[in-house]
Amino acid sequence: MLNHRTTEDVPIEADVVVVGSGLSGALVALSLLEGPMPPQSVVMLEARELCSGATGKNAGHCKPDIWRGFNHYAELFGAQEALKNERETWEAAVRFVKQHGVDCDLWVGKTLDVLMDETSLKEASLSFEAFKAAGGDPTPIQATADPEEAEKAVYAWDASTLHPFKLGLNLQTWTPASSITGTDNRWVVHTERGCIKTPTVIHATNAFAATLLPETETAIIPTPHMCDRVYPPASFSGIYGLKHSYAVISTKGLYSINPRSTSDGAILFGGTIRNMGRQLVTTIHGAGSLETASTKYLSSARCQESPARIFTCSPALAKLVNGSDWADVNLPDCFRVTRERLSKATP
Ligand SMILES: Cc1cc2nc3c(=O)[nH]c(=O)nc-3n(C[C@H](O)[C@H](O)[C@H](O)COP(=O)(O)OP(=O)(O)OC[C@H]3O[C@@H](n4cnc5c(N)ncnc54)[C@H](O)[C@@H]3O)c2cc1C
Repeated sequence: MLNHRTTEDVPIEADVVVVGSGLSGALVALSLLEGPMPPQSVVMLEARELCSGATGKNAGHCKPDIWRGFNHYAELFGAQEALKNERETWEAAVRFVKQHGVDCDLWVGKTLDVLMDETSLKEASLSFEAFKAAGGDPTPIQATADPEEAEKAVYAWDASTLHPFKLGLNLQTWTPASSITGTDNRWVVHTERGCIKTPTVIHATNAFAATLLPETETAIIPTPHMCDRVYPPASFSGIYGLKHSYAVISTKGLYSINPRSTSDGAILFGGTIRNMGRQLVTTIHGAGSLETASTKYLSSARCQESPARIFTCSPALAKLVNGSDWADVNLPDCFRVTRERLSKATP
């Protein structure tokens, strides 16, 4: 797929233009094309190579937050919203990979949160107790505070690791969208190779969203992130390899350990601890319409949980494009992207 251009010229019009070929753009395009009202034509513009943004560089750790963030989200959005956790979206990701036979070395097993200090332990335990008290189902989560087994405490639940994947449609790589002009239902997407007229534009540009949508500048903040691939020594390989994925948590941040035990045996390390290097990711999840019925907007990200979130946000966005109401797309209300909410966002 290197340098791929499905047609020599950029089409002059399309039913839908998706800007960005990462996981978000790919899944929303696929959801539209496989949906009940498939558009006649979908053009995907990609400024660089296919999936060359965060999607092509990530560690593939698909670790749904099913309780850890409960208190934080409850404080922001209320307990009922916070209970809508990511387990369902992680299940959707695993189902998708199996149904489509995606060759991505899917691993499903236990992921462990390892709490390294008293502060993190207290925070986790408060969140877990509040999650249960609000009606959250603790059965998928195994907790242990046995010092023989854990530094301070360990919480374990199901998660996955995987690799990025491919798709097919009119893809135009090395064709950045430089601007979008027009009004509802009559948009013109400008590129150096020509313009495309379309009623619907989907922004799936992740960290670069503000280039085309300046109004997202305060809501979508590109944040440095990196992961390292390490080939372990013999003492941590083969039958001695890591059997789980991990988040090691302390007051310094979260460090993720993600072994590719079903493929090349490499271990991917990454996290939110400062001074670890830089790649661009953003800090917003959601789907929504920025104009009344035409320009749709989607962005998603944040290192640990995004594949799980994208697997519900992108299909939901496809439904919105096809005219569904917000109430029918089954996303937490706090994921709803509107102009009004964007204008209230502060960095
Ligand atoms: C180093 C690293 C490690 C990560 N590890 C994990 C992990 O283990 N688990 C996890 O869940 N998440 C991880 N992530 C985050 C995850 O990869 C991203 O959240 C996810 O891939 C975002 O997908 P996306 O489609 O929204 O954005 P992207 O994949 O960034 O795609 C956006 C695309 O838009 C294109 N684009 C931008 N502007 C334009 C324009 N004007 N015209 C045309 N094209 C444009 C870009 O070139 C890019 O290809 C990691 C990220 C990084 C950087």
